[in-house]
Amino acid sequence: MDIHLHDEMEQRIFDELSKMTIIDAHEHLRPEAEFIKAPMDWAWLLQYVINDMVAAGFEGGVYFPYSEGLSPREKWEKLKPFWPAVKHGQFARIMLLGLKEWFGVTDLNEQTIEHLDREVRRQQRAGFYKEALVRKCGIGKVISNGKTWEGYDHDFMRVIVNIPQIVCQKQLREFEQKMGRTIRSVAQLEEALAEYVERAVAAGCVGFKTVVQPVPPLPQGIAPLVQHIIDNPAIPSEAQRQQLASWVHRRCLDAIRGKDKIVAAHAGTYADLSSHPVNFYALMEEYRDIQFDLFHMGIPLTRETGNIAKHLPNVIVNLNGAALTSQHMFEAGLQEWLDFVPVNKVIGFGGDYQWMPQLVWGHLQIMRESFAKVFAARIRRGMIDFDASIDVLRQWLWDNPKRYYRV
Ligand SMILES: [Zn+2]
Repeated sequence: MDIHLHDEMEQRIFDELSKMTIIDAHEHLRPEAEFIKAPMDWAWLLQYVINDMVAAGFEGGVYFPYSEGLSPREKWEKLKPFWPAVKHGQFARIMLLGLKEWFGVTDLNEQTIEHLDREVRRQQRAGFYKEALVRKCGIGKVISNGKTWEGYDHDFMRVIVNIPQIVCQKQLREFEQKMGRTIRSVAQLEEALAEYVERAVAAGCVGFKTVVQPVPPLPQGIAPLVQHIIDNPAIPSEAQRQQLASWVHRRCLDAIRGKDKIVAAHAGTYADLSSHPVNFYALMEEYRDIQFDLFHMGIPLTRETGNIAKHLPNVIVNLNGAALTSQHMFEAGLQEWLDFVPVNKVIGFGGDYQWMPQLVWGHLQIMRESFAKVFAARIRRGMIDFDASIDVLRQWLWDNPKRYYRV
């Protein structure tokens, strides 16, 4: 479970990385005031591990850790049968590194979950974000994907907000409520989308976030379809939803254009490949004056994702969350990217956690380990030297996120 380095060069790179102040370029962490009052127990530490448990057969769903009405012990009783199936995987490894560092715990069992439970609640206190992120991890700035821009300390934690997803009447009504205005026509929706962008920028957001998805060219006369979801609760067909998503994205991108804000996009990681980065290529090519950041290395589509960044000057790529899935896939993909993606277009780290800043530690440690292995292998092959390796890593972990996100 611990970090394993095999030679002096790997160790040197790892040690250098451990001293570096970095930008954590992607989290979903809530404002600290929300963290403090959330009804937490030990199971909240499972964030990604629960997905593996569900894949392994647990029927309680991925939101089970946050369910109320069950005692911490009862939650463990339900999850326990699935722990052996997932405990040697990458999600669990990263969590366990954090549990060891923060709580001295190396496994989940009846005794350790009680200890975790007590300690997790004790850590729900003012100032804990900085303890966990700044003092433990050397993080200088965090970019969090907020549900809203409200409630954040906009100096330490900068915010990106989602491009609204509006492909049916229910989503339209939610957006109406959020904006506090009535939307009964296509023109009113268009105005509200532009106003949303304006408000986010005025509130200090550093960018916007979406998910790469099919965004087909708009057909002539899309207005009646937009009006249709304003007037009708029926869910549109798959093809219509894609056209609506395409229309909403274009209206938002038109509003973002000229504001010097980046658009980040979740890429890869869904098994159905709906977030295949190639689906988004034409849109990013069309909006060449907007900077896009493709997230998660596009895992498992690392080649396709890197290849887009190789060809489109306005697309950068982000390693956040990529090693969460598989460190081996991550290292292989990164070795290839170093062959063909310019190093000024890569952002190096993002923890991708929602609630528990304690988990960032394990993720950062395995990134340091992987960076050490990948660069040491290139040094051994005579492709780069130590100083140049550290220079590239500093660009990825500080200079590039600072420049592209203007934090
Ligand atoms: Zn994320």
